[in-house]
Amino acid sequence: MRSYIKELFKKKESEKVEVSGWVHEKRDLGKIRFLILRDITGIIQITALKDKTKEEIFEIMDKIPLESVISVKGSVKESKQAPGGKEIFPEKIHTFALSEERLPIDVSEFSKTELSKRLDYRFLDLHRRKIQAIFKIQSTIATAFREHFIKKGFIEIQPPSIISSASEGGTELFPVKYFEKSAYLAQSPQLYKQMVACSMEKAMTITPVWRAEKHNTVRHLNECRQMDIEMAFAGQFEVMKQLEEVVKYIVSEVMDKNKEELDILKVKLKVPEAKYLSYEEVVKLLKIKYGEDLSPEHEKLLNKKFPDTIVFIHSWPTSLKPFYIMPKNQDPEAELSEGFDADYKGMEISSGGQRIHIPELLEKMLKKKGLNPKNFKSYIDSFRFGAPKHGGWSIGLERFTQVLLGLNNIREACLFPRDRNRLIP
Ligand code: ATP
Ligand code: MG
Repeated sequence: MRSYIKELFKKKESEKVEVSGWVHEKRDLGKIRFLILRDITGIIQITALKDKTKEEIFEIMDKIPLESVISVKGSVKESKQAPGGKEIFPEKIHTFALSEERLPIDVSEFSKTELSKRLDYRFLDLHRRKIQAIFKIQSTIATAFREHFIKKGFIEIQPPSIISSASEGGTELFPVKYFEKSAYLAQSPQLYKQMVACSMEKAMTITPVWRAEKHNTVRHLNECRQMDIEMAFAGQFEVMKQLEEVVKYIVSEVMDKNKEELDILKVKLKVPEAKYLSYEEVVKLLKIKYGEDLSPEHEKLLNKKFPDTIVFIHSWPTSLKPFYIMPKNQDPEAELSEGFDADYKGMEISSGGQRIHIPELLEKMLKKKGLNPKNFKSYIDSFRFGAPKHGGWSIGLERFTQVLLGLNNIREACLFPRDRNRLIP
């Protein structure tokens, strides 16, 4: 029976074992040959001695190409030199899958292959422990997010991905053919989570969204996953508090569940503090021109002033927020809104706020933004039959992974990125 490599380190001297995995490294010292085997739980050294190991096994240990898949039967030996303090003396090796001799990308620990080439061969890039560490951590992030809100009584929802019109205006959408109608890929679950909040009070989702912007930056993808909540009877401060709590929980879970992965990535984490500042305070603090959005440089500066802190910037000018964000005092002429952004480690991780639940006010705000309320009829109508005050936010899953792990490029935090130039693999 196959054991996972991690379990081998608990086995006794001379115990018979069978392990399966990928050929990670090989070394030939003439009379002694080493092969490092890797599975999802770790690596172990297989050691063969010329005069003690069967000849055919000694041969395979040298000939087998890197990244081939094998199983090894043998016995466990203590070894001070071997990584982890144990090694296996092989008695039988079975080859499941031979890799081609020349690998198209370098998959070793210190791989120098550039990102775009690595992404061309992402399936092979995923053999690397560093890359696996990123996605194991991403799995913890999504699980912690879900767990946290389910415990708090939120309902996990599955919003549609095909929509008939823009829910936000502004962002560009990908059109899709939908029988005789025109439709689009959703750029956010906004409308749908609002409808659920106005009926079932507390909604959460992790869902893909698509944005057809032609940007080519290190922080944007054209397809990304969002972790969203929306809740009834809540304004911007209540939902910011929810964000603060979940981010702290996610970070503590990653610190607890992914010690090995953080080690592999050489990332040290701390559960963050939270700081709440109004847009006006931030404008003064960073000497920004009032009415301007924060640039990436401003975000970095904010991180310098408040390291290891989730910085909430609340009460933005309505002019900088989408039409559906509630203006202060429900006043369509108000300069400021109930909308916020959250920055962490020098980058925006989330936007949100209180939404407009009053149809007439929505119509006014749409017009103020130069949008035609007729195009948003079904959205506006959804608030005519008992819609309470509500609010929510959205964290980009890949963006958050990038920020948390200090990755240079968001593509590192996306299994199979979709960007302007990439649809394969
Ligand atoms: P940014 O200002 O960083 O471009 P945004 O304000 O346009 O983002 P929102 O509509 O506020 O984005 O989306 C909510 C969150 O989703 C963002 O805070 C970010 O974490 C993530 N996000 C938004 N757009 C993208 C994208 N193109 N690729 C990856 N993540 C994104
Ligand atoms: Mg935003």
